[in-house]
Amino acid sequence: MLKGKTALVTGSTSGIGLAMARALAREGANIVLNGFGDAATLAAVEREIQSLGVQTLYHGADMSKPAEIEDMMRAAAARFGGVDVLVNNAGIQYVSPIENFPPERWDAIIAINLSSAFHTIRLALPAMKQANWGRIINIASVHGLVASVDKSAYVAAKHGIVGLTKEVALETATTGVTCNAICPGWVLTPLVQKQVDARAARDGLTNDAAKRSLLAEKQPSQDFVTADQLAALALFLCSDAGAQVRGAAWNMDGGWYAQ
Ligand code: NAD
Repeated sequence: MLKGKTALVTGSTSGIGLAMARALAREGANIVLNGFGDAATLAAVEREIQSLGVQTLYHGADMSKPAEIEDMMRAAAARFGGVDVLVNNAGIQYVSPIENFPPERWDAIIAINLSSAFHTIRLALPAMKQANWGRIINIASVHGLVASVDKSAYVAAKHGIVGLTKEVALETATTGVTCNAICPGWVLTPLVQKQVDARAARDGLTNDAAKRSLLAEKQPSQDFVTADQLAALALFLCSDAGAQVRGAAWNMDGGWYAQ
């Protein structure tokens, strides 16, 4: 479906982003990889994606730094001529009551989880418009639709990216470029495992009991969403069938938002 196209996935060295990169590569897209990791991890990720028969470019841009994002977008254009599918996925979490929330953590979350998407979109859009085809997929969260306590920066950033998604969808509405958000519930990635570990320590629970307690609080299915399920939704948004899905904030959350 995506042969000859190029997909850039921010934060694709782990979790949801890595699953997105694999799925897009299986459809034939060349992949621009981004995210942190030690040299061995980065090399293994690149080898794995290349083994799917596509070309890769890794760029280690820190998504909190606009100049590094600009450099990554220039490198993608130089290597592949532009980005056809842009998945804004890089994200971090920090959990604390707002009175004690460190201002530098707020700034980092807003920069990485929200402002980075503004920068990648503004830089990717001219080539997408020229080709009259493009897919922008913002990995928001169910926290883009509802709040939870102690996640002020995350909830603000995710609500912000849902708003940005709608706005970009309107700016591109008469073109072949679409912009949508995916809003996952709990997915068992390193980002969530940290919250499971914190709960296990706080409540004296085993790892399994802490997972069950986390799910019971918010996710009616009592089961994690998988990164592969989210990647399948992203592929649908890339397909012709998805061409008129515009400005959506599509939750895949085990029923979290239905409550
Ligand atoms: P993860 O921690 O497994 O992966 C995050 C990725 O982002 C990694 O590749 C990491 O290196 C990269 N990253 C972090 N800071 C970066 C920076 N400054 N510059 C470049 N890359 C950076 O997390 P995940 O759970 O896969 O999360 C991916 C996205 O999905 C995030 O935006 C997160 O908010 C969102 N999300 C996750 C869940 C969940 O339950 N896991 C739920 C809803 C939304």
